[in-house]
Amino acid sequence: MDLSIIVPIYNEESNIEALYKRLRSVIDPMAVQYEFIFINDGSRDRSLTLIHDLTASDPQVRYIDFSRNFGHQIAVTAGLDLAAGAAVVIIDADLQDPPELIPKLYQKLQEGYEVVYAKRRSRKGESAAKKFTARLFYRVLASITHISIPVDTGDFRIISRKVVNALKQMPEQNKFIRGQISWIGYRQTYLEYDRAERAGGATGYTYRKMIRLALDGITGFSDAPLKAATIGGFIVSGVAFLVMVYTLYARFITKDYEPGWSSLMVSILFMGGIQLIAIGIIGEYIARLSANVRQRPLYIISDTNIPLEEVP
Ligand code: UDP
Ligand code: MG
Repeated sequence: MDLSIIVPIYNEESNIEALYKRLRSVIDPMAVQYEFIFINDGSRDRSLTLIHDLTASDPQVRYIDFSRNFGHQIAVTAGLDLAAGAAVVIIDADLQDPPELIPKLYQKLQEGYEVVYAKRRSRKGESAAKKFTARLFYRVLASITHISIPVDTGDFRIISRKVVNALKQMPEQNKFIRGQISWIGYRQTYLEYDRAERAGGATGYTYRKMIRLALDGITGFSDAPLKAATIGGFIVSGVAFLVMVYTLYARFITKDYEPGWSSLMVSILFMGGIQLIAIGIIGEYIARLSANVRQRPLYIISDTNIPLEEVP
């Protein structure tokens, strides 16, 4: 098997057929042995039926059906776990990632790279708020991690078997696959593309899921927030000390002292706020620690047509 194409699916009934056709039309001319792996991540629409229809007519279509919605990153992880290809492409189902780029990605991989990621030159059809928060997130993340996670890059990419095997050795529960791939290293390069609008349906990434992904990325690859909490603590204590010195000076030297409650209230609230933020930051890390200690499986497969004994 030369190439596996991994497609996570969550409520994509309006895109699956068009996606399949476009994938076939670009992959067939490449003359490689390939498989498609559709991961149905607990869709509530007709996605699974459509996938079954494809598997009935095309033996190169494989599927994994999850017992419920586990999230995009976990769906991709399952695909990677069960992929047989020497190279693996990760692509969204909504045609925002153009399948036409795959031959170029594959070509580039053959030049001796282990990862070729697709970098968004522009993105269409997304709200200004989403574009802004995404831009901000990638830049904040880049500035607080030691590894270089490429900016404006999603999971659309091709990776070699070496990288897949390395990913399989990373047991973390809170996946941030693009960060993990940067962490792994090897020779990596990129191609630029223009991100299209979603072909049909609506985004499966709610703000909640986006925030979770962002926090997984930050906590998984940086201790900067914890350090910021410590430094913030020192700064606030320093200010409090200066205020104390000033108070003593006003009370005993200049006698220009007014008893009052407003300054008291402000400092109590301020201190309380800082403390809660710091505890919250620690909590984000502890929540992930406890998830990893529980050691639950990352996903439960309800059904698949992949012969598990053939998986490398
Ligand atoms: N997806 C998934 N599980 C989810 C949410 C999304 O498998 O819980 C899939 C979705 O079907 C798509 C890809 O992940 O193939 C990217 O999702 P989406 O297009 O909704 O995200 P956006 O492009 O809006 O960031
Ligand atoms: Mg999308």
